[in-house]
Amino acid sequence: LALSLTACSAERTDSGSGSGSGDAAEGGGGGLIGIAMPTKSLERWNKDGAHLEELLQEAGYETTLQYADNKVDQQITQIQNLINQDPEVLVVAAIDGTALGPVLSDAASRDIQVVAYDRLINGTENVDYYATFDNYRVGQLQGEYIVEQLDLENQAGPFNLEPFAGSPDDNNAKFFFSGAWDVLKPYIDEGKLVVPSGRNPASNDEWASIGIQGWSSDTAQSEMQNRLNSFYADQKVDVVLSPNDSLALGIAQALDGAGYTEADWPLLTGQDADQANVENMLAGKQSMTVWKDTRTLGDQVAKMVDQMVGGETVEVNDEETYDNGVKVVPTYLLPPVVVTPDTVESELVESGFYEAGDIGL
Ligand code: BGC
Repeated sequence: LALSLTACSAERTDSGSGSGSGDAAEGGGGGLIGIAMPTKSLERWNKDGAHLEELLQEAGYETTLQYADNKVDQQITQIQNLINQDPEVLVVAAIDGTALGPVLSDAASRDIQVVAYDRLINGTENVDYYATFDNYRVGQLQGEYIVEQLDLENQAGPFNLEPFAGSPDDNNAKFFFSGAWDVLKPYIDEGKLVVPSGRNPASNDEWASIGIQGWSSDTAQSEMQNRLNSFYADQKVDVVLSPNDSLALGIAQALDGAGYTEADWPLLTGQDADQANVENMLAGKQSMTVWKDTRTLGDQVAKMVDQMVGGETVEVNDEETYDNGVKVVPTYLLPPVVVTPDTVESELVESGFYEAGDIGL
């Protein structure tokens, strides 16, 4: 199969993405696998893309990897270009989980199979499998961490909490929020946790009202600044629920700017174990992160792709949770892990996710 790899030109931050590997060894399953990732601006997606490409190439596939700078239209164009190259399988980490129906019906009409990577694709029957970390569990781990650290079973508080949620267009964000809120809401109802800003969704369904579009650090920073300026003239925030590390970075900046120090720094949660956040954890500016070892997700997806291409039974372990509005997508769920400053070395360095030097150890 001769391939001409016509990578789309990408935005500045996303340019230079690996756009193909015409020289991948033939063998294994063979054929082309198209990979569409959301953005290079977040460390995790760079790791995700690079690792998945490497695994698939080792297994004898050719790959085309595209990054879309968090722009929905750009991702649709990229997927269309991938389809035009006639891949065996498309692996897609969607930017907007509801926007890919039309382009995926084109994929289906050409018998191209589709795996949703990390984020579910909604509103289409043309998604064959989904692989992700247990997204509800991510939020639950953040909530449980807060309960334990504040000893909410035994302490009356009240503690000042500021909750944040992820991007309203990302299907994962509601799972993260629900997992956390199911743990924390009872303590709000009891009065042990209070939300001075009032940015306090009355129910899980209202999570998007505190969602940060595009998971932007800058937006999270200004939102936190606003809350601190408006509601914290004469009190301190004790805990900030941040769904991921990109938001936590912005929130930490706002706290810094407002004069918080090690002595009064609030609990601050995160997710991804991005390098800057691990450094912040070691500097006392973030309390925890939920680590999703993206290498294991890549391993699983590469295995599923190979099973799909070979017409074998595809390994899944959840066939009830991820209803995309048209069907329940068979899913493989991986377990997320809490990392705190004390376990950075044992979890992140000993597993080889980081070299000690990468994170200043
Ligand atoms: C991913 C998170 C990530 C976020 C922002 C979510 O869909 O599951 O790991 O932090 O997107 O990119």
